[in-house]
Amino acid sequence: MAKIKKLIVAIDGPAGAGKSTIAKIVAREMSYLYIDTGAMYRALTWKALETQTHLHDEAALVDLAKRSKIALKQDKKGLMRVFVDREEVSGKIRSERVSRHTNEIAKVQGVREILRNKQHLMGRTGGVVMEGRDIGTAVFPKAQVKFYLDASPHERALRRYHELKAKGKRVSLERIAHALAQRDYKDKNRGISPLMAAPDAIVIDSTSMTLEQVAKKILNFVRINEAMQGKK
Ligand code: C5P
Repeated sequence: MAKIKKLIVAIDGPAGAGKSTIAKIVAREMSYLYIDTGAMYRALTWKALETQTHLHDEAALVDLAKRSKIALKQDKKGLMRVFVDREEVSGKIRSERVSRHTNEIAKVQGVREILRNKQHLMGRTGGVVMEGRDIGTAVFPKAQVKFYLDASPHERALRRYHELKAKGKRVSLERIAHALAQRDYKDKNRGISPLMAAPDAIVIDSTSMTLEQVAKKILNFVRINEAMQGKK
């Protein structure tokens, strides 16, 4: 029997494209580890806000990144939990305030280098589904399978709106659409590791697909690639 070689699966794309949901399904079905790199940038942003570190002081942010222990842990139910210096921040990093400020920290080169090294260590032996903005372009440019997941701005805003409504939050579609557009713009236009599809990524426009259909498509591809790698 061919030996199974576990892959590195990179999933990039803008906010609200369904990356997290898809990445979790693919990781579960493949028995791979799910790694949410956005949670790491969010965790550091939470700590910067908490410690009143000036968000324009790059040296202070790099120093903070060096001193902070950010950990992602999967609990028994398969839920991803996020810790900063042993404090659980899983819920806190999803606040609107953290969402709004994360890209200010994510554009600092020294910060990216530190987090990228951590991400590299977490995924280098394979068997991971890593999602973010620069996984296929910068963290694992040699990942065996790369996807760039997109959807129209309206559809992404609508999905986020329904997700938040389902959690019982009072939200406005207009505000969500505006916040997503701003985040997209900043992520795509920053000088370092901007959000873009790697040249060898499979681009999936999920605007008129269900998340299940997208997951199925990605899973098929990952399974075929895993089988092929095993034969090499
Ligand atoms: O994925 P999520 O929406 O939680 O990411 C929050 C922010 O973190 C993004 O808008 C982006 O600015 C930053 N990020 C990044 N590189 C990654 C993951 C996230 O710059 N690999």
